[in-house]
Amino acid sequence: MTNKHLTISWLYPELMSTYGDRGNIIVLQKRCAWREIDIKIEKISISTSESKLANCDLLFMGGAQDTQQEIVNNDLFNKKGEVLKELIEDNIPGLFICGAYQFLGKYYKTAEGKNLPGLGIFPLKTENPGEKHPRLIGNIVIERNRQKYVGFENHGGRTYLENPQMAFAKVLKGYGNNGKDKTEGIIYKNSIGTYLHGPILPKNPEIADWLIETALERKYNEKITLTPLDDSIEKAAQEIIINRA
Ligand code: GLN
Repeated sequence: MTNKHLTISWLYPELMSTYGDRGNIIVLQKRCAWREIDIKIEKISISTSESKLANCDLLFMGGAQDTQQEIVNNDLFNKKGEVLKELIEDNIPGLFICGAYQFLGKYYKTAEGKNLPGLGIFPLKTENPGEKHPRLIGNIVIERNRQKYVGFENHGGRTYLENPQMAFAKVLKGYGNNGKDKTEGIIYKNSIGTYLHGPILPKNPEIADWLIETALERKYNEKITLTPLDDSIEKAAQEIIINRA
């Protein structure tokens, strides 16, 4: 596949990137390069203008701890939030991990009880019950449409979806959104919100390809069939974690 180009807006790479989240960008870059799809990564920081963010075909934002989340929250809420909302509502595909996922809901109550308002794009809320309650940590296995995905989660926040049918997947092993209702993440328009760090894409290449394919189809308004790649190493890694769990 030639003559195709994708621009990825990577939000707050310095502040929002924990537990290997940067690996997701490497996977997107590689899987595009192997197929001769030209790819440009735009790093969007606090000092970056909203117009730069707006000019993209795919969105990515990783997780962070509460301190970084508070810094980013101000910029998102006062500056970039509106553009981000427009992009998501306009079906630009996106991957939002953990802290980023929490931001897109209605609010995130931190471990100290501080309420950080969210962008209200995803119909959900997140509450961290405080340091006395255990963080939800470990390897996680989830299932969506009979396909299993694996990752690593580490969060204090418990997310509750207004409509559990919108969950990205069902938890087979681990905690997911809140450790209780077996839902994991959300899928809203073409955006995925999830707690899976690890990072998620190297071990789950199907998700990477879904993002690339959806971004290309939306941009070029044509049916895209990506050239298959040899994913035997990725599948072996996935299987080991599923069996271990
Ligand atoms: N601060 C959030 C929580 O603990 C997000 C953590 C993360 O992104 N890993 O719930």
